[in-house]
Formats: sequence, C-alpha cells, structure tokens
Amino acid sequence: MTRYERTAWGRRYESADGAERELWLLSVNSVKEDRPIAEIAEAAAVTATGIPTQAAYQDIHRPVPGNTRTPRRVRVVGIGCGSGVHAVLADWDFTETLRQFEEHAKPVLGRVVENDVLNPGSTCTGCEGLVGCELPPRVPGLLGVPGPRRPRKRRSVSATDLRTHARCPAQYHLTRGLHLASDEPESEAIRRGRAVDNWLNEQHRQRSCHGALPTDDLPGLSAAERQSAFSMLAQHRRVCPLDGLRAGEQVCVQRRLAAYDPELDVVLIADPDLLYTRSGGWIWHETKTAGHRLWEGRDLMEAYPQLAFAALMMSAGVPGGDPRRSRIELEVLYEDGARCEEIDPWDPDTLADARRIIAGLAGPWAVDETYAPAAGDHCAGCAVAKHCVAGRAYLEAR
Ligand SMILES: [Zn+2]
Repeated sequence: MTRYERTAWGRRYESADGAERELWLLSVNSVKEDRPIAEIAEAAAVTATGIPTQAAYQDIHRPVPGNTRTPRRVRVVGIGCGSGVHAVLADWDFTETLRQFEEHAKPVLGRVVENDVLNPGSTCTGCEGLVGCELPPRVPGLLGVPGPRRPRKRRSVSATDLRTHARCPAQYHLTRGLHLASDEPESEAIRRGRAVDNWLNEQHRQRSCHGALPTDDLPGLSAAERQSAFSMLAQHRRVCPLDGLRAGEQVCVQRRLAAYDPELDVVLIADPDLLYTRSGGWIWHETKTAGHRLWEGRDLMEAYPQLAFAALMMSAGVPGGDPRRSRIELEVLYEDGARCEEIDPWDPDTLADARRIIAGLAGPWAVDETYAPAAGDHCAGCAVAKHCVAGRAYLEAR
C-alpha cells in the first residue's frame, strides 16, 4: 500500500477559539510573487483540514498534541522577511477552501502521483531514495578531491558555486547556503548578460533567433546597456548554432543536468545554455557576453571553469550520446564581434587540464566549514554585501 501525506510548512497560527487558522509562508527577502494558485489552494486546504504533526527522518508524520477542530476560516499569508512586506494569498471560509482545492490543487496532485518520470537535480540532496535510485548517473571521484574529514550533509555543487567559493567563501555561503542574495540590481555586466541570455533562451525555445530584435523587452537596462545588448544579440545571429540544424535534432534550452558522486556524497549540477543533438552526438553550448577581450590568450577553461566542469561531466557520460560526435562549444559575444571555440572532452590533454582546474577549485570548497570572507573589489556589486561586515568595511575604506 502506498501512503500519501499532504503537508504544508510554515508558521502556523490559530485564533483562541480555533475558528480561524493562518499559515504564513516565509521567503528570505521579498514576498515570493510567482506561487501558482494550485500551491496556494493546497496550502489553504491542508491548513483547513490538517492536524499538527511532527516528522522524523525516514518516518511518517506523527500527530502531536494541538487543536484538531475544523476552522471556519483560513488565510494563507506570504511574508517577505527582508522587506517586512506581507501579502494575503488566500482568505477563504472552509467551503470556499475546499472548492479552491477541488478546482486548482486536486488535478495537479493527481498528475504528480501518476507521474513517475525521474527528474534529478539539486533536490536529490534531500532525497531519502537517492541511494537506491537509478538517477542521476554515478560519477565517483569526478571532482578529483578527497572526501571531507568527517561526515557532512549531502550537498549539490555547480561550476558557478565553485567559482563563487574561490572568489569569496562567505559570498558562496550567504548566497547558496543561506539564500540571502538581495533582489537589488547587480553590476551592469551581469544585468546585460542576463538580459541577453533571457532573450536568446526565449528564441531558442522556438529554435530560431531570427525574429525581430527586442525593442523594449530587455527589462532593467539603461539606454546604453540596451544598445550594447542589442549589438551582442546581432552578433549572435551571425553565429547561432541552431542555424541549419536538421529538423529531427533535439534542442534543449537550459536543461538541468545532474550527476552524483557517491564518495563525496555530492550532487553535481549544470545548466547548459543550450544542449542540442547533431548526428548522434550532444553539443553542450555555452554563451558568454563580455565587454572586453579579457580572457583571450588565457586558457579557455581557466577563464571559464564552467567549460572544465562540462568536459568532466561529458566525459563521464552526461548527457550521453556518441562520444565521437559530442562536443562543448563556447560562444563569446562582444558588441563588435563574436568568437566561437570548441572543446573536445575526450582529448586526453584537455581532460587532464579540466581535472586540474576543477580539483583546484573543489579542494578548498570540499573541506571548508567556516566560509571566511575574502574582501576585495568584487565586494562592490556583491548581492550579500549588506550581510557582510568585512565586505562593508572594505568598501568604506576604499
Ligand atoms: Zn540563436
């Protein structure tokens, strides 16, 4: 028999007479704005019909003492812990709550229960079934570093995580471990890069980026940034890898790839900008925007450790495909040009370089338990600077 538990997590409140219940859903900075109605309806339904419980690792939820009377009214409230703003997401009487559940949540729950497709990713870190699961593919030793001296919680890691940790361990911990990054606009280069990525992703989902260039749908950019982003998009269209791709080939935009190192107990995560098949092989395509030709002359994988990470993943069989036809591509967009490079992850020298670069980044990351700040010019524009004493002191002393 399969037992299903429906739970809702948050701050729980009820009136003294038990007639009203509230569930507060906390988010770190501002109120989360994109909760689907199915999620809100389900949260309200569990608040209305559920009982207080406690969960333990590898156990079912067990009832704990508390009120089990059915409430007359239920509210679901979103709270932004950083902004102090709240939003009432649902404020329904008991009957209306059940009606909303029937209409919005129940069909979704039905699909969830029927769907047995595995979807490996960073949530594997909290999954009790990972050890017995056929996915994600096992890649023991891929990071090339010894395990921690003592057991620690399973973690996920991406190339961006490793690079952030190498720049500043505190920034890594505050953004990735504690999720404290603010929504404040970051540096111009990051904003512009993100706008270009978003537009390209949108176009590539339709397999072509030759439609009209965006006019005002590059949100958050100044006029000068927009001009520069337009120039980069125009450069991309000259070299778009999807041009001439046969109709039967697969194209995946930002497909999440995962692999699992059982020795380190780490889930490896990558989101290639573009992943597509070509004659039986997979092409892992990354696009970068750059203001200057800074990296030229440097080793490509040193400049972009993401490529080294991709080489290791690909050579370990992720995402699969015919090795002789699978490649990693880098496209760098400037305002006045574009440069495309190709990396063969089966070339022994390339692979050795990739191992050295990733092990160099992963070594300090794997054993770090203190995440000391490494203040520097990168503190300007850091999304967690306001939580970092050392970073603020550095910026004030500049
Ligand atoms: Zn394109």
